[in-house]
Amino acid sequence: MSGPKIELHKGDLPAGLSFGASVAVDTETLGLNPHRDRLCLVQLSAGDGTAHLVQLAKGAYAAPRLKTLLTDANVLKIFHYARFDVAVLETFLGVATTPVYCTKIVSKLVRTYTDRHGLKDLAAELAGIELSKQQQSSDWGADTLTQQQLAYAASDVLHLHAIKAKLDAMLDREGRRPFAEAAFAFLSTRARMDLAGFSEDDIFAH
Ligand code: MN
Repeated sequence: MSGPKIELHKGDLPAGLSFGASVAVDTETLGLNPHRDRLCLVQLSAGDGTAHLVQLAKGAYAAPRLKTLLTDANVLKIFHYARFDVAVLETFLGVATTPVYCTKIVSKLVRTYTDRHGLKDLAAELAGIELSKQQQSSDWGADTLTQQQLAYAASDVLHLHAIKAKLDAMLDREGRRPFAEAAFAFLSTRARMDLAGFSEDDIFAH
C-alpha cells in the first residue's frame, strides 16, 4: 500500500490547484498565542490522500491563492478545533475563513458517551487510523522542516473528510445538525472574541 502524498509549497498554493467542494485545513504555529506566535504552515487536503503544505516565512503572508481558497463561499473548510486555526488565519492572513466545519464541535454534539474529543481519538474511533502526536511541539519556524514534521503536519488533514462523514451520519441520526450549523456560523465571531481577550469567558454562563 502506498502512503500519503505530500506536496510542499513555499509562500502560497500553486496556480490551478482545485480542492473541490470541501478542503481539510490545519495550521502549525510557533505556539498557542496568536498575538505572539506566528503562523508557519497551512496544510490542506481534498480528502484524496494528498496533502498540500504551504510554508510561510516570517512576515511573508501575501499568499493570494491561499486566501482566495479560505474565503471561497463555495468551498467548505473542514478543521479540527477551527476556533484556534480561524483566529490564527485571521491574525496572519487577515481573512475570515468561511464557510467552516469543525470536527471537534460535532464530536462534542454527538459523541456524548466520551469526553475524548482530540483528533487522535476521532481518527482512531471513526477512521481506524492511529495518529502520532510526536512532532506536535516541534520548531515549525525552521527554514527546512524534517520529513517527520512534514508527515505529522500532513496527517492532521488527510483523515478529516473520513471523520466528517462519520460525524455527519451521527449528527443526522441524533437530530443535532441545527446546533452544529449555528455553532459554525458563530465561529468567526468566537475566534475574534478570543483575539479581543474574551478567550476564557463564557458569555452565556450565569
Ligand atoms: Mn496540526
